[in-house]
Amino acid sequence: MAKEKNVEQITDMDVDFAQWFTDIVTKAKLIDYSGVKGFFILRPYAYALWENIQSVLDGMFKELGHENVAMPLLIPESLLQKEKDHVDGFAPEVAWVTHGGSEELAERLCIRPTSEVLFCEHWKNVLHSWRDLPMLYNQWNSVLRWEKSTRPFLRGREFYWQEGHTLHATAEEAEIETQNMLDVYATFCEEYLAMPVVKGKKTDKEKFAGALATYTVECMMHDKKALQSGTSHYFGDGFAKAFEIQFSDKNNQLVYPHQTSWGLSTRIIGGIIMTHGDNNGLNLPPRIAPVQAVVIPIASHKPGVLEKADELTTRLKAAGVRVKIDKSDQSPGWKFAENEMKGVPIRIEIGPKDIENDQCVAARRDTGEKQAISLTELEKRVNELLEEIQTNLFTRAKENLKNNTRDAATLDEMKAIFNEHGGFINTMWCGSQECELKMREEAGVTSRCIPFDQKKVADTCPICKAKADTMVVWGIAY
Ligand code: ZN
Repeated sequence: MAKEKNVEQITDMDVDFAQWFTDIVTKAKLIDYSGVKGFFILRPYAYALWENIQSVLDGMFKELGHENVAMPLLIPESLLQKEKDHVDGFAPEVAWVTHGGSEELAERLCIRPTSEVLFCEHWKNVLHSWRDLPMLYNQWNSVLRWEKSTRPFLRGREFYWQEGHTLHATAEEAEIETQNMLDVYATFCEEYLAMPVVKGKKTDKEKFAGALATYTVECMMHDKKALQSGTSHYFGDGFAKAFEIQFSDKNNQLVYPHQTSWGLSTRIIGGIIMTHGDNNGLNLPPRIAPVQAVVIPIASHKPGVLEKADELTTRLKAAGVRVKIDKSDQSPGWKFAENEMKGVPIRIEIGPKDIENDQCVAARRDTGEKQAISLTELEKRVNELLEEIQTNLFTRAKENLKNNTRDAATLDEMKAIFNEHGGFINTMWCGSQECELKMREEAGVTSRCIPFDQKKVADTCPICKAKADTMVVWGIAY
């Protein structure tokens, strides 16, 4: 039968999580591979998901006063090299344009790996006075980083994202912006994607090239690994000095502005898959799902069934539900499996028996539970169910995070816990990069962040035994 065949095609997540992920991105029709390694085609279903993500985030950005702009694709080599840490961080993975037609260019142009330097060059031209500040910009674009190993969504050479770039009169204002945007990502992940986050600051080793501070929201995937889901960077006036961006302040003095940038990419779709998916496929949070409910007519050749199914679809659409009807000639079993694979939160079945009883049957993707819904209550119950599913997905993910985050006082304890359970482990840290590297060598983990939510799990750094006041969360990251 088609249903079994379809489901059989996905590898069990407990057997091979990486293969399970790869199976889902192709079977749920999210991705196709292109002729160039690391360049993935976002198929309509993935792009619809990305559009929903864009639409919510874009609204949140604009609510805070940000405006969208479009910067060029190419960066002259001399421009990329102006900020030393930045170029050191990105140069190994940029792709170069060396020819225009058959003519060799006088200067190589890199395809943007990120756009800080482009914004800086622009700001140098347009910023004059304190009255011009703040400049709160964002752009939706793709960037290119020549990664060695690539995976759909998680590590593409080209990927889609938004990059926010802002310029402020004072350090305080820029720091507030950095935090505000981190909060936007945290709210978005938790309330829309049902992905609970650990909010914190990156260690110096893990921060963005050229930033004074990088803040992150880290999420735990189903295999207990971490996904850095959104980052917000504070640059101070380092870039402004490197690019000679100045403005006259209220006292008519020439001063340097302070800068931030922040980004979230299509990587988050990989996060949604690995947070909520199961062995039947995707499992999408209703608030972001391209299709929230699918209506499937049962015994559709019987009189009245298709008409009734259409009527339910129309009613749900009018009630603001993103609904689709599946009238294809596939068997109901095939359609069930197909919509499970695509993670549609609610399946609504309507057949002759249901019509007789003035009801339909709703099946939840998250629990598999089925319930009869009286047609007089259709809109109300479907909307309630969508909320229940959204909450349930968040609760489940939160449990996973909570149950797989542990404290360790010593290195031996850390290694024993990590070998047995994996997941996130909190330890104290003295602040030295040497100890951070040693932790990686010894335990095979990297620092995910210094969580804002601090506690004292011991008195000393587990590596050097020096007194330590800072708690770090460690794990394996995608
Ligand atoms: Zn130490």
